[in-house]
Amino acid sequence: MTGTCDGFQRGISYLRISVTDRCNLRCIYCMPPEGVELVSHDDILSFEEILLAVRAAVALGIDKIRITGGEPLVRSGVVELVSMIAAVEGVKDISMTTNGILLDKYADRLVGAGLNRVNISLDTLKYERFKEITRTGTLADTLKGLQAARAAGLTPVKINMVPMRGINDDEVIDFAQMTITSGWHVRFIELMPLNRQGEFIPSHVLHKQIESLGPLVPFFGLTGNGAARYFTLPKAKGTIGFISPVSEPFCEGCNRLRLSAAGMVYPCLFSTDGIDIRTPLRKGVNVDAVKKLLAAAIAAKPKKHLLSEGGTVDTKMSSIGG
Ligand code: SAM
Ligand code: SF4
Repeated sequence: MTGTCDGFQRGISYLRISVTDRCNLRCIYCMPPEGVELVSHDDILSFEEILLAVRAAVALGIDKIRITGGEPLVRSGVVELVSMIAAVEGVKDISMTTNGILLDKYADRLVGAGLNRVNISLDTLKYERFKEITRTGTLADTLKGLQAARAAGLTPVKINMVPMRGINDDEVIDFAQMTITSGWHVRFIELMPLNRQGEFIPSHVLHKQIESLGPLVPFFGLTGNGAARYFTLPKAKGTIGFISPVSEPFCEGCNRLRLSAAGMVYPCLFSTDGIDIRTPLRKGVNVDAVKKLLAAAIAAKPKKHLLSEGGTVDTKMSSIGG
């Protein structure tokens, strides 16, 4: 176990940074059609401010950074930001979660800057349906992004799929087959009830459905940060992961802290109260002061979130970063 321990003996070693609340898609499970209210540009953390937060995090034992959003690739200069983070001594792993629309354009440069791996959100392999789920996107762009990520050597490339009853659950087997036919790593994420559209499907139901292709054997060799349980199908080079925040929350092993684009540090994805680091940063505080604020957020981590008990949440995934 690495990182500073929270009040429940969990070592915190992973910081997810939302670098923008902007997005080039409007996925039905994440945003309303008109998008969400955006933070003004002046209120978004600058690269220098993000970097200071990363240094403070590293001083607390955090060594893994994920860049997310909104859509991280719409943040101007994101490649430069990756290289700045990669240059911080003590950062061992930099990953990104993206919808892949712009990845074709950026994959090589991101690798050059020091990005290690990428998770790409893809909820359907059907052109019309992609447009319905994302409201604005074109499937071909994300597919190009996937191939570009693989070709650039962003390893492992993981595909995040959110199955929704009656919307895309008829494609679960097709996605599972991609682990055999083309060696992709596919993760099924339970839909979280954010007062948006769609009905969640528990992972154990998907597990059973996928076993029509063969037995799912537990797999432990994939680099990641602990939220998913991995399996392989016979003859598959890729893996199948289940992320079950609703039916089997992974709070017990939670190792993460989140920094929003506007400079709030959240102990949990579902926290309503965060700690503001932007105001002190703009008053010119040093790394040590930010370190104390991050330590306070770690100390405030709740034992668990309430989704499994039927609670709903009003988290804005696009500003906290999913
Ligand atoms: N725009 C990037 C993307 O889509 O990959 C990064 C940000 S997005 C908020 C991060 C992840 O959150 C995505 O994999 C997305 O599928 C997931 N997500 C968003 N809303 C969700 C919800 N209601 N339930 C489950 N996952 C959700
Ligand atoms: Fe944008 Fe990602 Fe939310 Fe889709 S899930 S609307 S791509 S932030």
